Amino acid sequence: MAGKHTPERTCVACRQAMPKRDLVRIVRRPDGSVVVDPTGKAAGRGAYIGPSRECLRLALERRALERSLNVALTDADRAGLEEELYKRRASCPHGARRGPGHGAQAEAAESEGGSVDEVS
Ligand SMILES: [Zn+2]
Repeated sequence: MAGKHTPERTCVACRQAMPKRDLVRIVRRPDGSVVVDPTGKAAGRGAYIGPSRECLRLALERRALERSLNVALTDADRAGLEEELYKRRASCPHGARRGPGHGAQAEAAESEGGSVDEVS
């Protein structure tokens, strides 16, 4: 039935479904640290956020990442994620893309987390 299927994941911050390859996977490693996973294959529990800076900001502000990953982020974790994502963003072709209502949508999406996965 399905022809070419593009796997989609939901940004935990703004709840927009996007092709998995456009999203950034954040993984809680078995040792409890939280890092950006550029490969999408690191072991641990993963959550996806959109490529824009706004998504990371929202995810941190609303504790969406912490809820999805079931972890408390330290200041060092937050700083590390921001640094990683800013670095990525410079070379990310999707960085500037922004749909209308991207921010407003998040207002209504408080209760549920976005996509998470578990890799062991
Ligand atoms: Zn987003």
